[in-house]
Amino acid sequence: MGGAAGSRARSPELAALLRALPPVDELAAALADVPRALAVGAARRALAARREALLAGERPATDLADDARALLERAGRASLRRVINATGVIVHTNLGRAPLAPAAADAVAAAARGYSNLEYDLESGGRGSRQAHVEGLARELTGAEAALVVNNCAGAVLLAAAALAAGRELVVSRGQLVEIGGSFRLPDVAAQSGARLVEVGTTNRTRIDDYERALGAETGAIVRAHQSNFRAVGFVEQPDIEELCALGARTGVPVIDDVGSGALAEGLPELSDEPAVRRSVAAGAAVVCFSGDKLLGGPQAGLMVGRAEAIERCRRHPLARALRIDKLSLAALEATLRLHRDPARALAEIPVLRMLSAPESELAARAELMRALLEHAGVDARVVTAAARVGGALPLLELEGPVCAVDPAPLALDELARRLRRGEPPVVGRARRGRLLLDPRTMDDDEARAAARGVAAALRPV
Ligand SMILES: *Cc1c(COP(=O)(O)O)cnc(C)c1O
Repeated sequence: MGGAAGSRARSPELAALLRALPPVDELAAALADVPRALAVGAARRALAARREALLAGERPATDLADDARALLERAGRASLRRVINATGVIVHTNLGRAPLAPAAADAVAAAARGYSNLEYDLESGGRGSRQAHVEGLARELTGAEAALVVNNCAGAVLLAAAALAAGRELVVSRGQLVEIGGSFRLPDVAAQSGARLVEVGTTNRTRIDDYERALGAETGAIVRAHQSNFRAVGFVEQPDIEELCALGARTGVPVIDDVGSGALAEGLPELSDEPAVRRSVAAGAAVVCFSGDKLLGGPQAGLMVGRAEAIERCRRHPLARALRIDKLSLAALEATLRLHRDPARALAEIPVLRMLSAPESELAARAELMRALLEHAGVDARVVTAAARVGGALPLLELEGPVCAVDPAPLALDELARRLRRGEPPVVGRARRGRLLLDPRTMDDDEARAAARGVAAALRPV
């Protein structure tokens, strides 16, 4: 059907409505307080949407200038926004992993607003090293001879492999050829480093003899990778880090240990199964790599600690420059490491550690706060016990606790979740057996109130 036939089919009423639409310039002039180019763009989009709605048989009653303003407002909103994490997953990669401690956030703001002695030695007035701000802290906290920090843990492993094994062999157990979220695969990292991967053992069992047989003149390093987000259970065996490092010491082969989450805080029963950074260092690993924004509770960063000679080779490798940490992350990392010097303070102030060890009474009170607010708004909600995953590299660790379970009726659960994501602030919860769970573990009281308000608004009859 051609355009003429289409317009002939239009009713006189529709034709009149279309004719009555204002010209773009006239509508744009109603938005006099915004830059002209933006006003014209918004006016054009509002008019196009109105024309489409009219042709579709709708008869919208909204004011066109209001529509254009709403479009402008949406386009002007930041894309990266604060989100309320009601999932209970503490190290949620898609929601930005570790929230920073107040001291770390303040350090970022201070470093962001002005100049700093990032690479300037205030004693001598000469050039300094950005590593100097965290090196001593990382050594003190892990017992290592030397330390280097880079952009993230994936970068740290790549750099260690390149510095110690490029052009040579990198020996790894078949049980550790893992893919970690975000397409970090050990075989790919090895390939990018220029090392040749030599696989030993089997998927479920690798013995120290398997490693020993693979070592030779071509060996650059042994790499051990934490399995991170999966576990093999049952008939499984892997040598521990002490055995691997003893083999390395006997044969002169450095051991790279990618522990992933990097448990630094000691004495937390929730983390007793995590490979402790200190343990790997004490065992004699050449380079131990771990993330800044998992259990350390700091910014995205990759920490490398270990033997002076091995860390020096990493420092001198050209990739070190390409992977260098930026000043904002460095500021947050220094502040976070300082908190770790006092374990009690670390537990109290670093959000990830606080959430991990939150007392049941605190969680119950926050769950009840949400339930009461929802009841007041006429929403059916109750406090129940549920297990949440810690997330990140701790897939098996589930923390049980009280949560607020919301009945989505009359909406479908998916629809309630969709409305919550589109709210301001967006709220992300977790679904279980037809109910939406709001987990108090990953929220403070203000966020819990906002989450309850969001649910009430989403379920309010229109
Ligand atoms: C998370 C993880 C990484 C990647 O760390 P990023 O800091 O995200 O780059 C590497 N190895 C292991 C074992 C991990 O758990």
